[in-house]
Amino acid sequence: MKVLVIGANGQVGKHLVSQIQKTDELEAKAMIRKQEQASYFEDLGAETVLADLEKDDADAIAKAADGVDAIVFTAGSGPKTGSDKTILIDLDGAVKTIEAAKKAGVKRYVMISSFDTTREAIQSAPSSFSPYVAAKHYADVWLRGTDLDYTIIHPGALTNDPATGKVAAAENVERGEIPREDVASVIIAALKEESSIGKEFQVVGGSKPVQESVQSV
Ligand code: NAP
Repeated sequence: MKVLVIGANGQVGKHLVSQIQKTDELEAKAMIRKQEQASYFEDLGAETVLADLEKDDADAIAKAADGVDAIVFTAGSGPKTGSDKTILIDLDGAVKTIEAAKKAGVKRYVMISSFDTTREAIQSAPSSFSPYVAAKHYADVWLRGTDLDYTIIHPGALTNDPATGKVAAAENVERGEIPREDVASVIIAALKEESSIGKEFQVVGGSKPVQESVQSV
């Protein structure tokens, strides 16, 4: 299965491409926005493609998805930009990738959402954070309204701690942290586990092996 990783040059994205390349069943196509980012992925034996979520439209992103069987969205505007970029990348950019999946005929789509994207979470978030939660909320709503084979993953606070290989995953889990390296493993487990299609779950560090946890959601 060839997987287009959108946000490949990000912190989760790099772990994900690296882990995908170590599997027998999956291969990565890294979507990046600068040519100078390509060598990291080429060294891993992964294909790369240039596209920008802000500047490109859904047709261009669909072209980037040429030849893939699945799309993972793990891009984000990050905490250092303003609400303008949150709307353009975390919402509009994400929706363009969902539309691109439809245009390219790629049914399988895995979304890295935020821990809690409910309406209540938008209302209760601090004002500096609520535009991000709202952007993630509507990207999730858009994806749920498609007939794509989607999985929506809601990770807790991301850390750069080394992987533990153990998580807690369910529709609702207690808020907590999770290493980005483990999030990458959860994404791979979801791609491999057909029973995760049409599901969404929260995930934090825990005590159950990743594959087992994803199977149980
Ligand atoms: P990250 O390191 O900030 O990576 C984000 C990636 O998105 C970067 O590679 C960046 O590209 C890319 N990107 C930004 N603007 C883009 C554009 N216009 N076109 C194409 N790509 C663009 O993020 P992370 O920490 O790995 O997080 C991964 C995901 O988890 C994100 O969706 C985030 O919202 C979500 N999440 C985060 C937390 C948290 O605690 N931080 C919790 C739950 C969920 P460049 O490398 O070129 O800049």
